[in-house]
Amino acid sequence: MIEFHDVQKYYGQFHALHDINLEIDQGETVVLIGPSGSGKSTLARTVNGLESIQSGQLIVNNHDLSAKKTDLNILRRDVGMVFQHFNLYANKTVLENIMLAPRIVGHVPEEENRKSALKLLQMVGLESKAQNKPSQISGGQQQRVAIARSLAMKPKLLLFDEPTSALDPEMIDDVLQVIKKITSDSDMTSLIVTHEMGFAKEVANRVVFMDEGRIVEDDKTNSFFERP
Ligand code: ADP
Ligand code: ADP
Repeated sequence: MIEFHDVQKYYGQFHALHDINLEIDQGETVVLIGPSGSGKSTLARTVNGLESIQSGQLIVNNHDLSAKKTDLNILRRDVGMVFQHFNLYANKTVLENIMLAPRIVGHVPEEENRKSALKLLQMVGLESKAQNKPSQISGGQQQRVAIARSLAMKPKLLLFDEPTSALDPEMIDDVLQVIKKITSDSDMTSLIVTHEMGFAKEVANRVVFMDEGRIVEDDKTNSFFERP
């Protein structure tokens, strides 16, 4: 699903990703950890083309992102992303936020779209908030809506960039439980940037550890956490 071959990424002179080699198969749940500034977010953002790479090869869901003419809109139909800040449309209801992309990009008929959106809201435990505006629900609830929204396009790959770091501590667990549920239920592939070690241990098949723009560890979750 994702293949990095000798990928380099620069911000101006700054070498943000060094010699990245990484393959992630369909269905894997991979957690990306490492110190702040080590390049985790940059790596995740290259996967859906939010950041470009300067050399090497990057293939995501059979699209070659190293080729300049890749159509990112087509790629992003299959690659969802959940950010630290939820970026919900403030003037639309929770339900409308979830229905938007399938309506516009997916051309899904209205009734079917509404039914699937309600089902997603139920899955994240927020069906009672369908008619609320984002400002009327908590940060943790907004993030669960953002997750439901990213699932509405039935992505093959879901990227999470520190999905809980902007949340109050008491909201974190509900969001992590939702992520755990969706990553264990399906053959969707997930790449999750997080600082939540307990969560990483519980949900990931694999842990990739970055430092100063390099991948310094890449191991099955059990072996990663059993190391002395
Ligand atoms: P992490 O997610 O591990 O905290 P980031 O990928 O956000 O790390 O950042 C890696 C490094 O790249 C940091 O030193 C950061 O300051 C730098 N960086 C990130 N984005 C930009 C940018 N748009 N322009 C210049 N430098 C950037
Ligand atoms: P976060 O930790 O939420 O990713 P950051 O402060 O690292 O937030 O980055 C916020 C934005 O600023 C991102 O778009 C990132 O690309 C950009 N950015 C981060 N570091 C730098 C930098 N050194 N120079 C320019 N832009 C940066």
